[in-house]
Amino acid sequence: MAKPKLSVITSSIRISVTSKLDGIRSWSLQALETCPGSVGPAGDLVPACSGCYATTGNYRFSNVKEPRLHNREDWKRPKWVADMVASLNKDRYFRWFDSGDMYDIRLARKILSVMEQTPWVSHWLPTRMAKFPKFRPVINAMSELPNVMVRFSSDSVLGEYDARHGSVIVPDASSVPDGTTLCRAYENDGKCSGCRACYDKSVEVVAYPAHGKTMSKVIRIALAA
Ligand code: SF4
Repeated sequence: MAKPKLSVITSSIRISVTSKLDGIRSWSLQALETCPGSVGPAGDLVPACSGCYATTGNYRFSNVKEPRLHNREDWKRPKWVADMVASLNKDRYFRWFDSGDMYDIRLARKILSVMEQTPWVSHWLPTRMAKFPKFRPVINAMSELPNVMVRFSSDSVLGEYDARHGSVIVPDASSVPDGTTLCRAYENDGKCSGCRACYDKSVEVVAYPAHGKTMSKVIRIALAA
């Protein structure tokens, strides 16, 4: 389980680090409330979001919530793009949304600007916002950048994905679908340990083995359905 903590404050930019990502930094928002793609047509959470790691454990602590709440307002500042670009000066990899999603098209356009102005950084952005047509042009523009890998996350927890997706949850490491690359963080105490597959444009779909009690329950329900 990732252990997020606030690590750096540059101007009012709040960057966090999770133990899983080898110290690679991340800009995040509060899960679910900034994730319109987490809800299916019937109004229920999709399976992948029902077991979301970012709603449990350390993510419930106030020192983890506070920067995510701060960021929800902070991105609206006129200088936010310039401040983000400056804060990424020494980064070579960057993860957007360890929790949350780019829920507002104005935020998505600003993130695109940050990506365009930081060609020295490999950006990985997981999202469900490709479900919404108005986001697709900006997501496509991100994907065309050589330093950006946008991964449209499948809603499945059973390894089901299609040509649009860049990641999917699988019940365990023995059930990896054809055409996917298995995340092996589970072999390394939950850490990336030098793997950078999620940032790699040549890796089409990453399969993440499920972990955690809540996700196990979600998978049991999905298998029984
Ligand atoms: S696939 Fe590699 S880079 Fe992605 S989360 Fe797993 S270990 Fe980290």
